[in-house]
Amino acid sequence: MLSKWFWRYKNEPDALWRKVIDALHVSNRSWNSVPVKASLSGVRKTIVGVVDKFKVEERRLPNLFKGVCGNGDNIRFWLDNWISDVCLKDLFPSIFKMEKNKKYVQGWYSMPLNGDMINEWISFRNLVDVVRLSDDTDKCVWLSDSNERFSVKSAKDFVRSKTSVNGRFVFKWAKGVPKECNIFMWRTSLNRIPTYKALQVPNCNFGSTLCGLCNSWDETIEHILCHCHVAASIWDHISMWCKVDSIFVSSVKDIIELSSKVNLDKKSRKVFKCIVFVTRWCLWKARNEKVFDNATITIEY
Ligand SMILES: [Zn+2]
Repeated sequence: MLSKWFWRYKNEPDALWRKVIDALHVSNRSWNSVPVKASLSGVRKTIVGVVDKFKVEERRLPNLFKGVCGNGDNIRFWLDNWISDVCLKDLFPSIFKMEKNKKYVQGWYSMPLNGDMINEWISFRNLVDVVRLSDDTDKCVWLSDSNERFSVKSAKDFVRSKTSVNGRFVFKWAKGVPKECNIFMWRTSLNRIPTYKALQVPNCNFGSTLCGLCNSWDETIEHILCHCHVAASIWDHISMWCKVDSIFVSSVKDIIELSSKVNLDKKSRKVFKCIVFVTRWCLWKARNEKVFDNATITIEY
């Protein structure tokens, strides 16, 4: 498919290029980085989906593998990182869209191209035109290690760095606090807290989505733990009690990072972290008590 339209722009196609296109082009399956048939369902497809979306600091796990082109037999043209650190599918989305959408394959050359497509096409040509095949076998290198060899340890180091699945922030569990606090923190970092806003789904009316504590703003986990006047007031008093600078938090990540940013010695930071964990859990508990038991919430100084 790619070759059909590619040759229209490639003035002097040679055997080498023909092989690049034929050998590197993908076959009949889904467009994930990890091979799986689009028609499949079940565990394998789920695993492939998770691996494909796995990110650390906006870097996807599949992007840490890079193909080194030899004879081109094993590298997938659009899906593998081989000619740059980003796969061609992501680098040239407009061209890829045309390639993916089979109804355009026969006739899109005559379609008017907009500026973005022309720019993409020029960049695409500049990048791909320099490729030359050799008799060597294609190689795959692992970019997360200095010797470019994949190892379980290297993969673990990658996974344990700063972010996790879908780019969500990973925190270290606090010692010395009730297990419920750690679990709540963990679920918060995964955005798995059933706030009114999180429970709101299309075509399903749960009624009001206003905060269970203040009844004034949409109830998201960020609102309950950061922006709600109840939370703001509590953070204010915790900062005075712990003798740290005023606490301003706007996201779950801010709260998780709080203990590493306060001006305290190492031992005090650990205690402060426990206080933060317990505070968050208590805020959520207070919300639940008000919502489900109609409890009165007061902030005592
Ligand atoms: Zn509120």
